[in-house]
Amino acid sequence: MTYKPDLDIARLYASFASPIAEVDCGRLCAPHNPSGKPFCCDICVAVPVALKEEWAYLKPNTQLWHRLRGDECPTDPIDVPKMKAETPGYMHLMACRGPEYCERDFRTLSCRQFPFSPYITADDRFIGLTYNWDFEQVCWVISNLHQVTSAYRREFIDIYDRLLYEYPKEYDSYYFLSEDMREAFKKRHRRIPILHRDGWDYLLSPATDRLTRVPAAQFRKFGPYRRS
Ligand code: SF4
Ligand code: SF4
Repeated sequence: MTYKPDLDIARLYASFASPIAEVDCGRLCAPHNPSGKPFCCDICVAVPVALKEEWAYLKPNTQLWHRLRGDECPTDPIDVPKMKAETPGYMHLMACRGPEYCERDFRTLSCRQFPFSPYITADDRFIGLTYNWDFEQVCWVISNLHQVTSAYRREFIDIYDRLLYEYPKEYDSYYFLSEDMREAFKKRHRRIPILHRDGWDYLLSPATDRLTRVPAAQFRKFGPYRRS
């Protein structure tokens, strides 16, 4: 018999609801996006996903979401079959009605976790949060990791301790993503920023997973946030 995770999505959402920072980061990044939307809420930039269990919960409770059709980005049709092929079978590709209609309580886990992902070392340890490096030039949070609240960090770790256990395929996908990140950062001769589960901040050597404690306020800043 196939194992099915028993997730209470309403409880899961309630336990991952702390703000990522004290400021509304969407207001700080949106002016740098030609569409005027926060980058992670602009379907032309990032397509959200939801666990099938999340969609089963969201569908009867809110009008905010629909399954991705492909015509949601007015300037650039989305190649849904291609994206579907790259998305695990236990997830749906989604689209929301847009930031002006956002309902905070009904944000998917993918909204809540952005721009972060669990970092898993080469020897299989989930040690903390790192970020999606494709968004370094646009996401204000990535340039201001010292402003990420400790409540958000704790909740992220707790949620992913649970999800990575319940969904072994999710664990594998973050393991391989961490591996890709090590390769990308090796090529760039850079260390990987980590918001560690122990509460401290580190730069991690991608060749060895060796950690050096460095306050996140000293981490590199990018794009328009270099001077902030
Ligand atoms: S998480 Fe990043 S991209 Fe999303 S609203 Fe905040 S600053 Fe903008
Ligand atoms: S639900 Fe809200 S946070 Fe999520 S993509 Fe839509 S506007 Fe952004």
